Amino acid sequence: MKDAQRSLFTRIMDREIPADIVYEDDQCIVINDIAPQAPVHMLVIPRKPLAKLANAGEQDKDILGHLLWVAGEVARQRGVADAFRVVINNGSGAGQTVFHLHLHVLAGTAFDEASLANAQN
Ligand code: 5GP
Repeated sequence: MKDAQRSLFTRIMDREIPADIVYEDDQCIVINDIAPQAPVHMLVIPRKPLAKLANAGEQDKDILGHLLWVAGEVARQRGVADAFRVVINNGSGAGQTVFHLHLHVLAGTAFDEASLANAQN
């Protein structure tokens, strides 16, 4: 792949850009988000550079399932398995800013609507 096409997250995987890597296996890595929106905010990122969820094909179903399993696994490791949220932003209209598929794993905050509204203000 041409250098200009390699995503920020591919560069993190290739250790060109530093990040706090909390888990990795042959299919994905998990890093702590640089600008956390909750006390626990991790990003589960496939090694395959799918730009967004809507680009995933039928051949990617195993990877997508694996990413969800890893989300649960790192939540267990961080001791937040009882209450965490998994979010995928697909497309800039939905808030996606890094065009390499990733799952946000958020925990350690109240997820009721009032608390979330306060957090956004
Ligand atoms: P998106 O907005 O695409 O759904 O999420 C991208 C996420 O990547 C954001 O939560 C943002 O804080 C995070 N992020 C952007 N640049 C970096 C970086 O260089 N390192 C880490 N660890 N996270 C990043």
